[in-house]
Amino acid sequence: MDRLYTLLQNRIEGVVSTPDQYHAGLLSNFGNLFHATPRLVVSPLTARDVAATVTFAREHGLTVSTRGAAHSQSRVAISDGGILLSMSSMRRILSVDASAPSVDVEAGVVWRDLVRHLAPRNLAPPVLTNNLSVTVGGTLAIAGIGVSSFKYGTQGDNVRELEVVAGTGERLVCDRKKHADLFWGSLAGLGQAGIITRARLDLRATKPMTRTYYLLYRDLRGFLHDAKLAMERGRWDHLESWASPSPQGTKPVAGRRQVFARWFYPFHLTVEFDPGHPPDDEELLRGLDPFERLYVDDLPTVDFFERMIPVFDLWKQGGTWKHIHAWIETVLPWEHAVDCIESVLPDLPPSILVGGHVLLWPARGTTSKVPFFMRPPGEDLIGFGVLPAIPARFWERARPMLENLSRMTELMGGKRYLSGYLDWTEDRWKNHFGDQWGPFTALKHKYDPHSILNPGFVPFPAAPADVRRVPGESVPAAD
Ligand SMILES: Cc1cc2nc3c(=O)[nH]c(=O)nc-3n(C[C@H](O)[C@H](O)[C@H](O)COP(=O)(O)OP(=O)(O)OC[C@H]3O[C@@H](n4cnc5c(N)ncnc54)[C@H](O)[C@@H]3O)c2cc1C
Repeated sequence: MDRLYTLLQNRIEGVVSTPDQYHAGLLSNFGNLFHATPRLVVSPLTARDVAATVTFAREHGLTVSTRGAAHSQSRVAISDGGILLSMSSMRRILSVDASAPSVDVEAGVVWRDLVRHLAPRNLAPPVLTNNLSVTVGGTLAIAGIGVSSFKYGTQGDNVRELEVVAGTGERLVCDRKKHADLFWGSLAGLGQAGIITRARLDLRATKPMTRTYYLLYRDLRGFLHDAKLAMERGRWDHLESWASPSPQGTKPVAGRRQVFARWFYPFHLTVEFDPGHPPDDEELLRGLDPFERLYVDDLPTVDFFERMIPVFDLWKQGGTWKHIHAWIETVLPWEHAVDCIESVLPDLPPSILVGGHVLLWPARGTTSKVPFFMRPPGEDLIGFGVLPAIPARFWERARPMLENLSRMTELMGGKRYLSGYLDWTEDRWKNHFGDQWGPFTALKHKYDPHSILNPGFVPFPAAPADVRRVPGESVPAAD
């Protein structure tokens, strides 16, 4: 038995496990591209456990990698020879305040459990991701965007307070005033400065029912025109859209014949309503000019939040959930959206979207204030996501295409969403963060001066010697 196992187990209430004890699923994540074996896996029960684990790691020269539900795809949520901190053991919903609606949760709470808990009170977090089986800590660390982000920004924009265990082992409660740099730096901060153990989240009142209009567009410009109109009008609660292929035959692409598609653009616009007061369909849709109005769907609001579960279940039943996922999601500037998307879709083989899809999400730049959630300047933005599921034997063929796609979107001024596939050198990271690279690095050096947390993803320069304080010395007061 690893001697560190006993030493650490004696210090915490949660469970420590060694490679012969923990589940093999912990060696990778949803991407299925990167695999690593942790020396120890810790399932903490309390923030004290998390702090004790970080302190222990520092004392023994180990690293700590934080894992939520591991639905990300790059070198995250896995650990190569260090401690993997599996936060899903901290999943208590602590308290709901219905008067100034907010909820206090542990970071390992899964959004679906929270949504179910709040539904009887007609309350919900303002922003929900499509996949509700992910943890609060996991999405706050990336940003958390959803079909209401055009109104409310990211999930990170809707946080009141966080409790964070810094890389120094200290437990700090932070908000927009207290330890503000750690607060903002924990949102979309990739767990690099600290581990979120608890979050107080804003809530909003929901109406019990939703009505969704399924519109179809046959050209991208027409869809973008109406997407902008829909965002500006302020009538809609949720906006969701895709690019959807209709395969047409084969044509030569990069020296070989390949199936190609004619692309269409489904646009789903949703309003919430009280039973007995249904929305006025014609008034709502006035001014929009789709190719076809396909369908209208009334659903209880909680079912609307869970609308993607059957889709993901299908991916699981079809076996594609276990394929390689190398998703390229980028927030594009509006002015380059048509050029970028129309240079990608005509040659995109529709087969790689079996068990995946192409997302097009209209968004607004000023709804988010989270500094490390990088997006292009400008008010109108569009999220463009190519989300394939790739059988392992096709990976080497698909890889250059996806890497080129990522580079092209970056060259067009897009900013990648960091839960997808990326394997960047320092230059690409600097380019991504732009003028936030300096503050991001400074935050890392201040709160994790010994580079204990989440190594292997962001290649930070080493902290200067005077910043690497001696163990136990406290972090200077934050601004
Ligand atoms: C089918 C599917 C659909 C998706 N749809 C959306 C969507 O609509 N919108 C969207 O925004 N994303 C979406 N995602 C991406 C997903 O939300 C992110 O990958 C998210 O980070 C996953 O959360 P997780 O709990 O699995 O975190 P993990 O993948 O386990 O971790 C993600 C990152 O957060 C860090 N981390 C985890 N917990 C903590 C913590 N407590 N404190 C500090 N850092 C922590 C990890 O170290 C890692 O860097 C989707 C993913 C899938 C597979």
